[in-house]
Amino acid sequence: MSENILKIQGLKVAYGGIKAVKGIDLEVNKGELVTLIGANGAGKTTTLKAITGTLPDCSVEGVISYMGQPLKGKHSFQLVEQKLAMVPEGRGVFTRMSIYENLQMGAYTRNDKAGIEADIEKWFTVFPRLKERASQLAGTLSGGEQQMLAMARALMCHPTLLLLDEPSMGLSPIMVEKIFEVIRDVSKQGITILLVEQNAKLALQAADRGYVMDSGAVIMTGNADDMLHDPRVQAAYLGE
Ligand code: ATP
Repeated sequence: MSENILKIQGLKVAYGGIKAVKGIDLEVNKGELVTLIGANGAGKTTTLKAITGTLPDCSVEGVISYMGQPLKGKHSFQLVEQKLAMVPEGRGVFTRMSIYENLQMGAYTRNDKAGIEADIEKWFTVFPRLKERASQLAGTLSGGEQQMLAMARALMCHPTLLLLDEPSMGLSPIMVEKIFEVIRDVSKQGITILLVEQNAKLALQAADRGYVMDSGAVIMTGNADDMLHDPRVQAAYLGE
């Protein structure tokens, strides 16, 4: 039987009178790459924020479990200690720190100095642009470079579960390709991933399974390849 890494049951989120998420169930099993797709405002980011406990003051109902334990009330640093990492929409890099310092911060739960250095070098090989700019302040990087840095920083804690919110947003086609190449590689290494994306085609091509959200509800779920070939998904989300 597959092992649940993340399990969401009956999640409801309301911002005052706005019901952003209306009782969804979602599961991510060990080693899977699962994508959550849907139009603007469908409730995808709200769902991710509910997992990480970073929603603003609003009403939240339901149960979210990570590795069999409820997540409610956990602080961000506790999540990183438990190897749950998130790359938020808008990246969230430390703008007044250098690239190198951002990567070190990503490893703050580790104390294997040599391993951390080796990982930083590994990411510099994957993203040579970061290496060239290692001492540059992260706030001065382009959007694409910040995305690379945010991803590398999240991976520095060797996460069990990686949450990605719209990693392709605002990037050039070449950068989107590069970021998805890294996502597929990370997935092949066995890291479990929940990927929120508006680029449904790329997301479904990379994923094992998918969920479609619309107006706060999950309206479809299944094998990603089947969804790619589903005429309803093609018409509504793939522009075909
Ligand atoms: P996008 O791709 O545009 O980010 P999304 O699927 O991630 O869309 P959410 O950002 O989760 O959607 O938004 C879901 C709904 O909740 C939208 O109607 C949005 O306007 C509303 N919403 C999101 N954040 C807040 C907030 N802080 N206060 C009030 N309403 C909010």
